[in-house]
Amino acid sequence: MSQSLQAVRGMNDILPDDAEIWEHFEDIVRDWLRSYGYRPIRMPIVEPTPLFKRAIGEVTDIVEKEMYSFVDALNGEALTLRPEGTASCVRAAIQHKMLHTGSHRLYYQGPMFRHERPQKGRYRQFHQIGVEALGFPGPDIDAELILMCARLWDDLGLDDVKLELNSLGSSEERAQHRAALIAYLERHVGQLDEDGKRRLHTNPLRILDTKNPALQDLVEAAPRLADFLGEASLRHFDGVQAILKDAGVPYKINHRLVRGLDYYNLTVFEWVTTRLGAQGTVCAGGRYDGLVEMLGGKPAPAAGYAMGIERLLALWRESGGEAERAQPDVYVVHVGEQAQRMAFRASEALRGYGFAVLTHCGGGSFKSQMKKADASGAPLAVVIGDDEAAEGVVGLKPLRGPGAQQRISIDGLANAVAERLFSEEDEQDGSL
Ligand code: ATP
Ligand code: MG
Repeated sequence: MSQSLQAVRGMNDILPDDAEIWEHFEDIVRDWLRSYGYRPIRMPIVEPTPLFKRAIGEVTDIVEKEMYSFVDALNGEALTLRPEGTASCVRAAIQHKMLHTGSHRLYYQGPMFRHERPQKGRYRQFHQIGVEALGFPGPDIDAELILMCARLWDDLGLDDVKLELNSLGSSEERAQHRAALIAYLERHVGQLDEDGKRRLHTNPLRILDTKNPALQDLVEAAPRLADFLGEASLRHFDGVQAILKDAGVPYKINHRLVRGLDYYNLTVFEWVTTRLGAQGTVCAGGRYDGLVEMLGGKPAPAAGYAMGIERLLALWRESGGEAERAQPDVYVVHVGEQAQRMAFRASEALRGYGFAVLTHCGGGSFKSQMKKADASGAPLAVVIGDDEAAEGVVGLKPLRGPGAQQRISIDGLANAVAERLFSEEDEQDGSL
């Protein structure tokens, strides 16, 4: 026997027990997004590599070392498996001139790819829900984006997700801060680690985000971007905070929150939990007013965020979230050639009325089929032999609780199933 093949490291199969939880979660998410008027958009998983280099920035973790990039063997084009969705979403909006017709509230979800070291909460294929509000300049939409997250945590019953907020100001303000920061870090260059030295002149803001414990004091005492914000930036930030306060959403201002992607300005935020260990950020985003123009569009303001589905699901499960196991209403057993034809007719007829039906496939005795019927969790079995088939009748047998098998004409089957199912529900309600 040849050796069996395995999935790529850091890329996971989601088996049915888990996939049902994912689908239940996705249903909740879709309702929630609709309740805020966000509309779906779907972009390709592969994009031209320059899109990400330009949007995310050359000196970022993602572009420097995390992208799955390859050359299309047929035409030599440089391509990349998307590491995030914002760049693609903005590319699509520009390409289809969506911003010419006003503003858009959009969302997408799907797999993203980053070549990171796999560990709990960090995978090479992971999944995000991305939400982007294109064409809105004010702090109101920033606040809406944040409030909607708070509502999702509530819908999911998560009470341990905390909001951290910061303002990155305008690019001019960041340039002034950057100069002061570089001057400060140059004075302490001896204390910097390799990453820090490398980033000192390319992306010093990212040094503030370092997780290296040895650099914490240095970084804590560094010049703060907040001290360089001008009046307009402060007003915008105040506007966001006023709406959050009104809505009773608590937050903490984190001056060191800079985000790992270069396209952000003004408001940035992260939702963090302490219950997932080191990978505690479940959602992150902010304003990125420069990105549309940077990708060749007519300048337009924009803001958005992305949440990591794996991390959110881990948290949701910890808080008791689970799938309602999808059970069939009816399991159809049948022995004999005529019986099989009748079984398919009866099953299709029941599905036509909206019932979920498992039709036995693979033959076997009544006894072995009834075992499968029991194991399926269906409350009812339809039982058909050749004799029944010849007479145009079937047996309807309750699999849970009392009640004998009933002979029913095929035409009356759907009604009889409905009656049994709904009386069973009444009994269950009555016993509560
Ligand atoms: P981190 O600091 O954890 O690497 P990030 O800043 O790179 O996160 P973003 O690009 O902001 O992450 O992505 C938004 C969200 O997507 C994160 O908050 C996280 O929940 C999730 N996420 C990012 N990378 C991964 C990954 N490799 N595996 C699982 N989830 C991820
Ligand atoms: Mg990362």
